[in-house]
Amino acid sequence: MAENTDVVVIGGGYAGVMAANRLTLRGDVNVTLVNPRPSFVHRIRLHQLVGGTGEAVVEYREVLAGRVRLVVDSVERIDAPGRTLALASGGTLAYDYLVYAVGSASADPGVPGAAEFAHPLASLEEARRLRPVLDATP
Ligand SMILES: Cc1cc2nc3c(=O)[nH]c(=O)nc-3n(C[C@H](O)[C@H](O)[C@H](O)COP(=O)(O)OP(=O)(O)OC[C@H]3O[C@@H](n4cnc5c(N)ncnc54)[C@H](O)[C@@H]3O)c2cc1C
Repeated sequence: MAENTDVVVIGGGYAGVMAANRLTLRGDVNVTLVNPRPSFVHRIRLHQLVGGTGEAVVEYREVLAGRVRLVVDSVERIDAPGRTLALASGGTLAYDYLVYAVGSASADPGVPGAAEFAHPLASLEEARRLRPVLDATP
């Protein structure tokens, strides 16, 4: 009997979760999703977290199909010829196919004054830093 195909998805944002969940529709595919934190961040809700009008974090069990194996770690290096990933924890993961869905981050502010006065809002950490700043603003 043929062995299952191993697919690893790097990044558990919207794209990675959608890809992983859809891949589980095939019974002959093992799906592993690698993400640095154990919960899903709704980036489109980060401004609500900052404004205190909503939450932006949900548990993966609420959004991820049961057949997806979640590995909480960061991918540090992709060895494409060897089809392996080096993880920040020191481990490695082998794959047959890779889905690269690591999203985006804040750019370095090039506008004069932005570095001193602007607040980025692209990640959960940035949103959590901005929340008390906004709270302290008269
Ligand atoms: C405040 C805010 C409001 C927004 N509002 C809207 C909106 O109203 N409508 C809209 O369409 N879009 C909106 N966007 C944009 C939208 O959030 C992004 O387009 C979307 O998140 C991209 O999805 P993604 O899956 O590609 O990446 P992400 O959602 O960023 O997910 C990427 C994932 O990859 C993980 N990752 C990164 N590097 C590694 C690594 N080395 N190893 C393992 N995992 C890794 C990250 O931790 C993250 O979990 C908004 C963005 C922000 C910041």
